[in-house]
Order: sequence, then structure tokens, then C-alpha cells
Amino acid sequence: MSDYRLIYVSKRDESLNLQEILDIIESSEMHNKEDHLTGMLLYSKNAFMQVLEGDLLQINQTYQRICKDPRHSDIILLSFQMIEHRMFSDWLMKLYDVLQMKMDDRIFDLSEQSPYYPFPINSDSAFEILMMAKYVSQGNV
Ligand code: FAD
Repeated sequence: MSDYRLIYVSKRDESLNLQEILDIIESSEMHNKEDHLTGMLLYSKNAFMQVLEGDLLQINQTYQRICKDPRHSDIILLSFQMIEHRMFSDWLMKLYDVLQMKMDDRIFDLSEQSPYYPFPINSDSAFEILMMAKYVSQGNV
């Protein structure tokens, strides 16, 4: 059966601290393991960007839960498409701080927006940012 990839951006609740983001990751890993989903969550001072890969229905259900979550808002779906193979299969949900990893300049270039608030942004740029984050976090850049 084909896999799908969903990418969205959202406004992070600015009162959310790192421990609370780590709690999201812990719960995400538990759910995603059950649902055979993988992906990556980028965060900056006031934004999230997430990619989820896996089964169509599981992604859809998870995304609907995520959309109701009060820990972020202004969620913008950037893409939801069938894929030949997963690009984020190594992680149930990899957390990545875009600023700590010194990717801010490149994100700035790609989005032409503040590195802290990466939208409006198109789906191609978002995927490119996520792929950069993947390679940097794997130590390949
Ligand atoms: P419960 O854990 O029972 O929570 C019930 C409700 O309370 C839900 O609406 C939940 O969103 C909200 N809630 C839970 N904990 C808190 C809290 N500490 N503060 C405020 N509200 C809270 N889930 C996944 O399964 N996979 C993911 O990849 C994933 N990624 C996420 C990315 C982001 C940026 C955010 C904000 C959340 C993400 N979540 C993810 C969490 C998701 O929104 C749900 O909280 C989670 O899936 C558990 O759902 P549940 O129905 O069991 O709700």
C-alpha cells in the first residue's frame, strides 16, 4: 500500500517551554509507533513545521488530533501527497531546533520571512527545509 507525506506549519504557543515540547514528542512517538508513522518536528521561537509519513488514514487521523491541539494555532496545511518512499523513516518523531542548528540563515533565504516565523511558505520550500534539517541532524552537512 502507498505511503503519504503531510507537511504543515503552525504558530507555536509562545508560553510552551522546551520540556513541554519534549512531552509532545514523547506522546507523538508512542502514538506514531502504534500507527506506523514517522516524521520530524521543527520548532523555532514561535513556529512549528512538521512532516508526517505513513498510511493515508493514520496520517489523516493524527493530523486531525494535531489540529485540535491548543499548544499551537493557525495551522496551515502545505502538502498531503502520495509518495514513492519515505524520506523520514528513521524517526517516530525527530525534534529539531532550527535556530540551535544554525539553519536560520538558510531558512530565511528559503522563506523570505523571519526565521522565527516561517510562513507564508510554499510546500517545495518547506520540504527543502525539512530535508536540510534531516541532513544536518544526521551530521551530513
Ligand atoms: P490526549 O493526550 O488525551 O489529550 C486530550 C486533548 O488535550 C487533546 O486535544 C490534546 O491535544 C490536548 N492536550 C494534551 N496534552 C496537553 C498539554 N500538555 N497541554 C495542552 N493541551 C494538551 N500526536 C501524535 O500522535 N503524533 C504526532 O506526530 C504529533 N505531533 C504533534 C505536533 C505538535 C506541534 C503538537 C502541538 C502536537 C502533536 N501531537 C502529535 C499531539 C496531538 O495533538 C495529541 O495531543 C496526541 O496525539 C494525543 O491525542 P489524544 O487524543 O490521545 O489526546
